[in-house]
Amino acid sequence: MNCKIQIKRMLPLYSIIIFLWIVIAQVSSEVVTALAEHSPIPHRSHIVIDAGHGGIDGGAVSCTGIPESMINLQISERINDLMNFLGYETVMLRKSDTSLHTDGNTIAQQKISDLKNRVEIINQTSNALLISIHQNTFSDRQYSGSQVFYATTAHKSEELAKHLQSALMEALNPKNKRTARKAMGIYLMEHIQCEGVLIECGFISNPYEEINLRSTQYQKKLSAVIACATSTYLAEQQKQQGAV
Ligand SMILES: [Zn+2]
Repeated sequence: MNCKIQIKRMLPLYSIIIFLWIVIAQVSSEVVTALAEHSPIPHRSHIVIDAGHGGIDGGAVSCTGIPESMINLQISERINDLMNFLGYETVMLRKSDTSLHTDGNTIAQQKISDLKNRVEIINQTSNALLISIHQNTFSDRQYSGSQVFYATTAHKSEELAKHLQSALMEALNPKNKRTARKAMGIYLMEHIQCEGVLIECGFISNPYEEINLRSTQYQKKLSAVIACATSTYLAEQQKQQGAV
């Protein structure tokens, strides 16, 4: 067939495709603009995301032999992406399987150095809000459920922790009876100067919960709940302060 005739015949089809492409592009752009306009982007916060452990310190080991540090990092990366999407500036304390230690000859000394360095970065970050991600473990495998601990230093951390605890229970595990608790004896949470929470996402010693915590689908849900609950908490804080 003559090439010119073929192009002429196909012209209406090409026009429809181009028209649809323009419409879809405009709608997508409107959706993005709407999201940006309605997202409660705070004036003050840098969200510091701490994937617990890493490198020399794998943390707890799951019932199938997976180090806690790996699950912590996967969930932290997802939270980081979502917070960025919602318009927040973030700082990730680690982005790979590494420790932040700078001193120490023994593992114990290196762990102390690692924690001190984490605290220093957090305290040097202006207007920070810390989300530290960990996984729980216990010798009795029946225990499950997420639990949020709050910093002993900044009083508003308790409010954030309660908000997160109820959001996690409502969305993921309504039978979970755990409550937000003060992070007593946790070095990081006793030395930060900003609002902060440490989230034990679940028990990697529980065979059922461990499967969830390793799965992409559950990690996505978990991260979405944490990111959205943090965002609504910050928006509420701003409203109360009349800063919007
Ligand atoms: Zn841990």
